[in-house]
Parts: sequence; C-alpha cells; structure tokens
Amino acid sequence: MNIAVVGTGYVGLVVGACFAENGNTVVCVDKDAAKVRALQKGKIPIYEPGLEEIVKRNRQEGRLSFTTTLPRAVRASQVIFVAVGTPEAEDGSADLQHVLGVARDVARAMNGYKVIVDKSTVPVGTAEKVREAIRRETTHPFSVVSNPEFLKQGAAVDDFLRPDRVVIGADDPRGAEVMRELYAPFTRTGAPVMVMDTSSAELCKYAANAMLATRISFMNEVALVCEQYGANVDEVRRAVASDKRIGPAFLFPGCGYGGSCFPKDVKAILKFSKDKGYSFKILEAVEAVNAAQKHLMVGKMQRHFGSLKGKTIGLWGLAFKPRTDDMREAPAITIINALLEQGAKVQGYDPEATDVAKRIFGSRITYARKSYEALVGVDALVLVTEWNEFREPDFARMKKLMKAPVVFDGRNIYNPQQMKANGFTYFSIGR
Ligand code: NAD
Repeated sequence: MNIAVVGTGYVGLVVGACFAENGNTVVCVDKDAAKVRALQKGKIPIYEPGLEEIVKRNRQEGRLSFTTTLPRAVRASQVIFVAVGTPEAEDGSADLQHVLGVARDVARAMNGYKVIVDKSTVPVGTAEKVREAIRRETTHPFSVVSNPEFLKQGAAVDDFLRPDRVVIGADDPRGAEVMRELYAPFTRTGAPVMVMDTSSAELCKYAANAMLATRISFMNEVALVCEQYGANVDEVRRAVASDKRIGPAFLFPGCGYGGSCFPKDVKAILKFSKDKGYSFKILEAVEAVNAAQKHLMVGKMQRHFGSLKGKTIGLWGLAFKPRTDDMREAPAITIINALLEQGAKVQGYDPEATDVAKRIFGSRITYARKSYEALVGVDALVLVTEWNEFREPDFARMKKLMKAPVVFDGRNIYNPQQMKANGFTYFSIGR
C-alpha cells in the first residue's frame, strides 16, 4: 500500500519505518525542515534502539522517503496517518490544533478516496471533529479511523512490529477493512485486531495509560507506608505481583513517572471527564502522588544534609526512562531544579540525553561524558533513571571518586545490605 505518515517524531518515524519494513511504500511528512533534511541524509533525530537500521534499509530499498510537502504525499497515498503532537493545553486538555490543521491540509490535497488515521493520542470525540474538518474542505469520499498507538519508547520498534493488540476505531466498514489489511502482517502470530467504534478506540489509549500510571502511584504510596512501619517494599511487591490477578508489571516504586504520555494523558482524561461533569477521583490522586514523588529524593537529601547549599550532587540518568533520549516531564528536571534552587551544584550524566539536557539547563549544570566522571568530588550521587549500565557499577571506584560515599537511589536498583557492606550511606524508597 502507499502510505503517508504526517509527523515524524517518536511515534511517526517508528510507524513509517515499520510499515515500510513490511513492504509498503511510505512517505513521512514533517513541518520541521531541519528534521526532514537530517532524515533525508540518513540521520535519525532521536535515540530509539533498532530504528536507525530499519530507516536505513528501507530508504535504500526506496520504500521510505521524507518530505515537508504534504499535498504530494497525500495524493500519492491511500492511507494517511496523523502522528503529530497533542501537547497539553493550558487547561489540561489535549491541544488538537496540529491534528485538526493537518486534517484540513489533507482534505485540501485529496484526489480520491482516502483513509485518514488518527494515530496521535486524542480525546474522545476527536474522530468526529476530524471528519467535520475534512468534510468542510472536500467532496471526495473518505474514512476517518482511530488507531491509537501503544508502543513504548525504548522498545518502540519491537512493540510496533509485534503488538499485543491492534485497536481500530472505525465508524464505516470500508476504512476498517483497509486497516485490517494493513496490519495483517503484524498480527500473524495471533495478536488480536480489535475493531470498535471510534469513541471507544480513543478512550482505550487513555484508559491504558491511566491504569499504568495508577499502578505506579499506588505502589509509590505502598512504599511510603513501608517507610513508616519499617517494612520492605521489595518483599511486599514480590508477594503482590505473584498474584495472577495482579501480575508484576508497573509495580516498581520510584521517583515518579514522566515522559510525553503519562502526565499529559492523565491530565487529558481528567479534563474530558470533567467536561461531561464527572471528576475522575482516582486519577486526581494519581497525579498528586506523582507530583510529590518527584520531590521525594530531594526531601531525603535535605533531611540527610540539613542544607543543600554548596553541596555538589552527581546525577545518573537524565532521560525520563532508560533507552530513550526523551526528557519531556522527566523527574530529573524537577530534581535538578530543586537542587539548583537550594544552592547545590549538579554534575549530570546520561548515556543518550545529554544534548537534550543541554537545551534545558544550558550552563546551569555540568555534563559528564562518562558515568564515573559525574562522581568526581561529589557529596552524594542521586540515581534517577535505571539505565542498565548503572546496575552493576564498580562501587570501590565510585567511593574513591566521591567526596563522601552517599547514594540516593530513586529506582531501588541497588541492594541495601550490599551498599552498607560496601561502606555507603544509602537511601532508597520504601525499604
Ligand atoms: P513528537 O513531538 O516526537 O513528534 C511530533 C512531530 O509532529 C514533530 O516532528 C513535529 O514537527 C510534527 N508536526 C507537528 N505539527 C505538524 C504539522 N502540522 N505537519 C507536519 N508535522 C507536524 O511526538 P510523539 O512522541 O511522536 O507523539 C505523537 C503523538 O503520539 C502524541 O499524540 C502522543 O501522545 C502519541 N503517542 C506517543 C507515544 C510515545 O511514546 N512518544 C506513544 C503512543 C502515542
């Protein structure tokens, strides 16, 4: 099939590359000319494992191309995916200006029947708004389909090629049939293709993200209760997770969730529920717990040091999670800002997110090129993101480099007994 993907970010680029990988001809469109120029030269603007290889292969095979020119891409394609950003607006709702703007531009360029697919995460009712926006601009026939994306940054290519399920919201059979055909190669192993109405499909994505955020905040609260009673959250988590009705995923306490999805999607579901007169009480608490959790480690540092003024803190992990360079809503941002406000200095290190961090903090912090370099002369280390390379460090070397052997572990990746035996003053969460 000939496909256009509008928006070449973390989602659009993966979607475009993976559809090309399965033999489709894909043109990716982005309004960011610098990004498109880089992609045309084979440079990947983001870090996502495995992505560079399939972009390169499919470019060479002539199945994947990049452009800033939307109309030609629309005319050449039967299916047009809209994968532009839906950032948080001031009132907490998802800002639909990019999605609706693209819908209008697509409509003006149409030269026959097209399937327009909402791939971006959009509130319930958006498919109808997109349909209306297109109808105003064209007399050509079209279908609007909602196809929320469930990939995880850090494992996006694999998630897209081998999805748990594919959700298709379609209010007409023609659009649904095209989507079934398009996804058939991805679901041969038996992953279900779930076809439903567009409103249900739109809500699926928010309900899934809100559930995951809820599990994280829930476990973070369990960890805080553990601290009050001297219980060990690791033991509690393992016992709870072994219950088949509950399962182990997303039950790890930590210094808060971040990223471009959970925070904004939780806000958006709160907002569109409220718009209908319903206050989503659980999610209000999930959000409040997470906001407090991002300050937890700095609170522990304050209690340990008394004052943070003049202290130098090494920080491992800037990205909002491992295997990405994305820092949107990253707990590291809250932690660094709080440390700087209290007069501490920060020496940060991340395997992939340093360039992104430089755009946020400039010269307000220093950036280490290697993990151990971030420890030179520090009063403490705070671990914020659990990259694999931090899991088994050389503790003796760490101690030699640090001014004092103090570790604040925001992801519970070290063993408290072992840390004590190694001579560290060690703080983690809920144990
Ligand atoms: P992103 O910011 O990385 O990428 C969006 C891209 O769209 C940018 O390159 C931007 O230049 C481009 N764009 C914006 N307006 C445009 C226009 N009018 N024409 C052409 N290009 C335009 O965003 P993302 O992380 O890829 O997320 C995209 C959507 O997918 C969001 O709705 C998000 O909630 C959803 N989503 C994200 C993830 C994730 O893990 N990042 C997972 C599932 C769903």
